[in-house]
Amino acid sequence: MSSHRTLWQGRPLTRQILPFFPALLVLLTAGLVAVLMSLVHSAETQSEQERTIKDVLWVEQDLRFLLTTTQERMSGLSNLAAAGDMDKLQRQAVALLNAQSELSRIRVLDAHGATTLSIPPIGNPAAMARGESQRQKAISTARALGRATFSAPFLTPTGEMGLEVLAPVFDGQVFSGAISATLSLDALLTRHIPWWFAENYRLEILDTDGVPIVPTSRIGSDTVSLAAAHTMVFDPPGGGLYLRATPYPAQGKRSRWLILTAIGVLTASTVGSLVALARHIRRRLKAEQALREEIAFRRAMENSLTVGMRARDMDGRITYVNQAFCSMVGYTPEDLLGMKPPMAYWDPAGVERAQALHDAVLAGNGPSEGFELSFLRRDGSRFDVLVHETPLIDASGHQTGGMGSFLDISDRKQMEDLARRQDQRLQHTSRLITMGEMASSLAHEINQPLAAVASYATGCLNRLRSGRYTVPELTDALDKLDRQAKRAGKIVRHMHDFARKSSPNFSPLDMTTLVREAVGFISRDAVQRGVRLTIEPAAPTPPVIADRVQIEQVLLNLIRNAIDASPASGGRGSGHARVTIGIRLDSGGVQVRVRDYGDGIPEETAAQLFTPFFTTKPDGMGMGLSICRSIIEAHHGHLWYEQAEPDGGGTVFCFTLPCQTQPAPKTGGLPEETQ
Ligand code: ADP
Repeated sequence: MSSHRTLWQGRPLTRQILPFFPALLVLLTAGLVAVLMSLVHSAETQSEQERTIKDVLWVEQDLRFLLTTTQERMSGLSNLAAAGDMDKLQRQAVALLNAQSELSRIRVLDAHGATTLSIPPIGNPAAMARGESQRQKAISTARALGRATFSAPFLTPTGEMGLEVLAPVFDGQVFSGAISATLSLDALLTRHIPWWFAENYRLEILDTDGVPIVPTSRIGSDTVSLAAAHTMVFDPPGGGLYLRATPYPAQGKRSRWLILTAIGVLTASTVGSLVALARHIRRRLKAEQALREEIAFRRAMENSLTVGMRARDMDGRITYVNQAFCSMVGYTPEDLLGMKPPMAYWDPAGVERAQALHDAVLAGNGPSEGFELSFLRRDGSRFDVLVHETPLIDASGHQTGGMGSFLDISDRKQMEDLARRQDQRLQHTSRLITMGEMASSLAHEINQPLAAVASYATGCLNRLRSGRYTVPELTDALDKLDRQAKRAGKIVRHMHDFARKSSPNFSPLDMTTLVREAVGFISRDAVQRGVRLTIEPAAPTPPVIADRVQIEQVLLNLIRNAIDASPASGGRGSGHARVTIGIRLDSGGVQVRVRDYGDGIPEETAAQLFTPFFTTKPDGMGMGLSICRSIIEAHHGHLWYEQAEPDGGGTVFCFTLPCQTQPAPKTGGLPEETQ
């Protein structure tokens, strides 16, 4: 694991940042959206301010127009007072009070500021003292300017903020008093502000210190933002008054904040999930890295194996091969993967057996100790393998195929063959030695009686030729000759009894089984010499009464001779030479035919074929056919050969053995001729 960590940590910075790149992109997008929103917001704020200024200007002009009109009307009343037309003044004052609800009182003042006429009449004279200083100041200003002016605001007797409009009255050039109109600022704002303005703005009149003296409020003052407020000089009445309009927060702003909040939440959750995803990817990459290392480790392990490994599915199709297997058979993995039986590397001579074994393994009946097969490399050379195959079980416990290991045992086999051949040669030599010894002792043993026979025979002949003989003499000599000849015969029989190891053991036997067993014994030699042995299919035959060992010996000898006579014999790889063994029922019993496809038997050989010690092979003994015929004849059978020229050449060696229903062979060993 430490190596994984090192690899992971050793990655370049860009690769470390890469997993977080989507999160960064999302953050960037969110930032851009926020900037966009703030730009929109500032643009909206600016246009809102502009609108506020426009609206405030409109309201201010409206109010100014009203106040200017009031100012002019007061000047009109002062003219009436100067002209002394008090009735008209009174009428007009009443009409003005009715028309302008913000005006609460109109008074006529004398030159000292005392009230000479008040509409409506004054109820509480003490209350009228309120705003006296502001009034006096305004009267002075009006007198100095010679036109109507506004006093500074003050708290009116009705408890509202108000101010007075004071128009000076001049009698000629002499100041004779003033017309005062009390104006309620509260009423001015509440009654002369249009509804749409009041709906959107809070309008206030501020004093010189900026303190609101007449607030209008639709909702609490704390819910408005003074940052968006617009303040302007309120003139007239002037005197340091200001108008301030503050827009109420719009509904759209709240929804924008909602959208912004939603975007924020979404961004945060997206970033969170992306970070989680990046972590997951990092963990996954780590796992993949670990897996890759594991695979590399296993591959190195596999490649170091000298044992071939091969997996296949339930159809026998190859799904996996290791390097050793490919080197063994000489095919590339691409050639092998997907290959179906019969495999290209199976030896054509053993396809049926290989198929049967592979099927048995897949069916779960394969030999647990493994089995040997002959394989063919791509270059055509043969080799032997030892196969161990086990079922391939998947994670759910089902068999998905088989995994086989293949061990090249050619070297071992070659060593075994070499040892066997040496053993055979040793046996052959020892047999020759034994035979030589037997022959010499036989010669030695029978030399004496034969010499005696010859001497008696010569003596008798001499006597007969000379005519000087007597019958008793001749009879005696011939008697001795007979005894010596019998002695020689006894010696020969004695030697034979010595050579014959055991008596034959007759029993009912199935000829097909015997042939199969014999082929099984010799098949390795046949494969090695490139000869294919085939047992021709035959109908079942009745059992024969025979000695198993002796008949097998006959079969082995005939098959070995046929292999020796086959044209391609003597080398692996030719694969075309063949020997066929047929079994059939004929009039003489069960007939066995061993056929080769060689050059046949030349005439000079044919004459001596069954003669003991006749051989054309360098290491042959020349006893095989002679013994075979003796054995077959001892079984009451018959052995012969046929030239098979019309049918592809070669020779057919045949023998028949009587069936169980026919007369049983005599017991007691080999016939006289071979003794
Ligand atoms: P060996 O096999 O030791 O030579 P055999 O008695 O079995 O002794 O054979 C004698 C000879 O007969 C052989 O050397 C060979 O020349 C000849 N012979 C036997 N079988 C065949 C055959 N199928 N085709 C040709 N010649 C054969």
